[in-house]
Amino acid sequence: MRNLFHVLTLFPEMVLQGLSPSVIGRACEKNIITLNAVNIRDYTKDRHGKVDDYPYGGGAGMLMQAQPVFDAHRAVTGGRNIRTIYVTPQGSPFTQQMARELAEETELVFLCGHYEGIDERVLEEIVTDFVSIGDYVLTGGELPAMVMIDAIARLIPGVLGNDGSAEEESFYRDLLEYPQYSRPEEWHGRKVPAVLLSGDHRKVAKWRLEEAKQRTARRRPDLYEKYQQKQLLIRLLSRQKRNHIHIMESLDRGNGEIVYSHNGEGTLSVLVYDRNSRTSMAIAADCSFGEKIADCLPGEGRFIVISDLFLKDILAKRHYRVLGEYDQMLYTKKEVLRVKHRDIRCLTMEHFPQVCRLYCPEGGPGIEEGYLRERILAGAMYGAFLEGNLAGFVGVHSEGSLGMLYVEEPFRGQGIALSLESYAVNRMLERGQTPYCHVSAENTESGRLQERLGFYKAEKTFWWLEKVLAK
Ligand code: SAM
Repeated sequence: MRNLFHVLTLFPEMVLQGLSPSVIGRACEKNIITLNAVNIRDYTKDRHGKVDDYPYGGGAGMLMQAQPVFDAHRAVTGGRNIRTIYVTPQGSPFTQQMARELAEETELVFLCGHYEGIDERVLEEIVTDFVSIGDYVLTGGELPAMVMIDAIARLIPGVLGNDGSAEEESFYRDLLEYPQYSRPEEWHGRKVPAVLLSGDHRKVAKWRLEEAKQRTARRRPDLYEKYQQKQLLIRLLSRQKRNHIHIMESLDRGNGEIVYSHNGEGTLSVLVYDRNSRTSMAIAADCSFGEKIADCLPGEGRFIVISDLFLKDILAKRHYRVLGEYDQMLYTKKEVLRVKHRDIRCLTMEHFPQVCRLYCPEGGPGIEEGYLRERILAGAMYGAFLEGNLAGFVGVHSEGSLGMLYVEEPFRGQGIALSLESYAVNRMLERGQTPYCHVSAENTESGRLQERLGFYKAEKTFWWLEKVLAK
């Protein structure tokens, strides 16, 4: 499943040349994405190759005509329903969140206007989204389309070389990125902050968070306000950390959006939507809050995690089915765990077939191959290797929990599972996260393993539900 970007333009070479050097060009070479720049002029029925004409009613400049735009679009889509974005100063502002959402699409069409724009009638027929890159007017849509493709493509797993880099920059955690420094240690009499040379990951993470907060408050007070709202909710949720860690982590990582929140007397009702995993997370004080939450459920979400029994019944009436019952377990200590096995590292696509064979067999745990691929490309799966052979693996789910632990039959009984889990816990601690997992209520072995590592169980029982789509 590769991502395909079609660009309908009068200047295809501008788009291709603009995007081919560097990261996006390499992603095209690696076949992770495909860029298809289509010259609208090739589709005009005008004998002289004309694509524009004067606007009816008068006014300055020329307008692109409907026919060539429509035919170019038809040639690309073949009449299929593909999301078509007209880049225009009259559109909704493009944001990182919109980029994330569009990165989920496997095929997108960008329509670039020129001159004074495009005949309204063809826009009415083919455009699904009107998007602007800012409140200013450019001469053409090529630069906006390139800006958007660049921002979207770099979020597609595998496009950026180093895992995690898309997760740790501006807008991650709703904060702007902290200041960065490279060699030399001193330049023009300015020294790199000492903490960055200390080698102490936790101190570095703390310093970066503080700097990011200060910078965001100064430069983007609007963003900072949103960050503070989430932090306030995290504080309220932390009164029952064991029961709420999944929501706290989703908010803290910047993936969770507060859809509904009500702070009653000693009770909390909350609905958070985790964009990264398209999962809602809900707690409700009672049935009436449960109904309110169900009314607010975002249309695009596929899953929901709940820990209130009555929510199960409410959601059953809204076409959700229970996928499983789980214990939520979390690691609240700060101590780094000992990892016995030395060779543990991020899995790459080279390991994908083996991981699928082991983890997605017929009647297996219900994890889809596409999901495992996405997790590997996101750098969220770690493998343990013995004499070069993959002996087992563990991963971090897209909503933030630890899971997908598996050790190959011949390698069992050597403490590999323990090493893998410890390794993953340490990686999360380095990032300032609280490791947690959802252990299937039947999987007592896994529960015991987490306890051995120092995980604690939440008092509540958790259920994952999936929306049943009408056929
Ligand atoms: N007459 C149009 C108006 O006032 O909205 C402006 C046309 S502009 C000169 C030509 C083309 O550039 C537009 O059709 C659009 O595709 C693109 N464009 C210009 N500014 C843009 C922006 N801020 N965001 C997205 N696209 C833009």
